[in-house]
Amino acid sequence: MKFVSTRGKAKAVTAGEAILQGLAEDGGLYVPETFPTLRNLPVGEVSSYGEFAFEMLAPFFEGDLLEHDLAEICVDAFNFPIVLNPLGPERWVLELTHGPTCAFKDFGARFLACSMEKLLEKHGRKLTILVATSGDTGGAVAAAFHGRKGISVKVLFPKGRVSERQKKQLTCWGGNIESYEVDGSFDDCQKMVKSAFMDASLKDWGLSSANSINLGRLLPQSVYYAYSSYLFRAATGKKPIFIIPSGNVGNCTGAYWSFQMGAPIERISLALNANRTVLDYLESGKYVPRASVQTLANAMDVGAPSNMERLLNLYPRFEDFRKMVSATSVSDDEIRKTIKQTWDEDHYILCPHTATAERVRRDKFADKPTIIVSTAHPAKFWTIVEPLIGSPVPVPQELQLLLDKPSSFRSIGCDYHELFQEAKP
Ligand SMILES: *Cc1c(COP(=O)(O)O)cnc(C)c1O
Repeated sequence: MKFVSTRGKAKAVTAGEAILQGLAEDGGLYVPETFPTLRNLPVGEVSSYGEFAFEMLAPFFEGDLLEHDLAEICVDAFNFPIVLNPLGPERWVLELTHGPTCAFKDFGARFLACSMEKLLEKHGRKLTILVATSGDTGGAVAAAFHGRKGISVKVLFPKGRVSERQKKQLTCWGGNIESYEVDGSFDDCQKMVKSAFMDASLKDWGLSSANSINLGRLLPQSVYYAYSSYLFRAATGKKPIFIIPSGNVGNCTGAYWSFQMGAPIERISLALNANRTVLDYLESGKYVPRASVQTLANAMDVGAPSNMERLLNLYPRFEDFRKMVSATSVSDDEIRKTIKQTWDEDHYILCPHTATAERVRRDKFADKPTIIVSTAHPAKFWTIVEPLIGSPVPVPQELQLLLDKPSSFRSIGCDYHELFQEAKP
């Protein structure tokens, strides 16, 4: 199985090669040359989610260096529960929030970390991963790569712009994870990472990234859609509509890939916050990336979605894109209203991101068979959620564990050279 670039000018590579490379040489993103067909896997036939993931992903790794490690990678990566919570007979919540950092990014980050560790071991190489983060990504990447052999991680976050609990998730690791509090904005952090990548004198550090364009994060994000749609169909006899809180549109691309492979999915609908680039494209036929605006669902504050290229590659004709993709923009006021309403009516606590999906369900799909995707645990956003529901959000054990650890980080300015002052690992 080979992967090709969305821009069509790079050599086709295998999954492991794409994972180590990140971006294709022509600046495009790797996508599968063809989609394998799911062998209508009855979920009951496999004993665990890890095993299901292996069955589903195996065709993508045929002929790859990782082919014979994939089973072990899947078991190692998905070592936490995946929860389907029915709020009604045909109204389910897919809770992707039970991993080490209580966000769906744990799925992709852990699969990528396990795959990279194996690949580096085989090549006898070492890597230093740079991540600039405005919150969730850095925590999931730090947690996933902590203690992995051959890899060190430098996490950059903007001073004063991440919540206390997010900061804890970025700074509690030690070992092979180093955290830097940058006296600047998230954009400054990203610029520092970009400058470091372009600095030829840092070549020996083997710099790499772990961002959401990496194939190793995308592939595992297709698995839970197939898994939950089979379970939904077995329970209800129907195919679900998935409603997915979206920013960089990586999570929903996983759903489309799963659909392409034949998972029993009725429709996929994107819930956006006030960042409506995808919706504007659907309405105008012109794709115009823009600057992001700040919202309550901050992990979705994206004006130029990095995985849009993959979606456009899947449905290059605008008519097809419009047929397959629907999107709705949800305001901060609607997010607040939905968190309160869902608590009052269902006694269920939503995080601000998941609330966008629930709003779309209530407004557009109220009587339809649906699965909304819960992308983060509300306890991470307690300062927003608690005043709305008027009661405390219980802190899950995974999160409490991290909050109880000591923090360590270095405060630096906006010069990327400050990241490379100690000896190379
Ligand atoms: C990253 C993130 C999203 C958006 O996912 P994309 O793949 O960027 O579309 C939604 N919710 C939460 C909590 C996130 O961390």
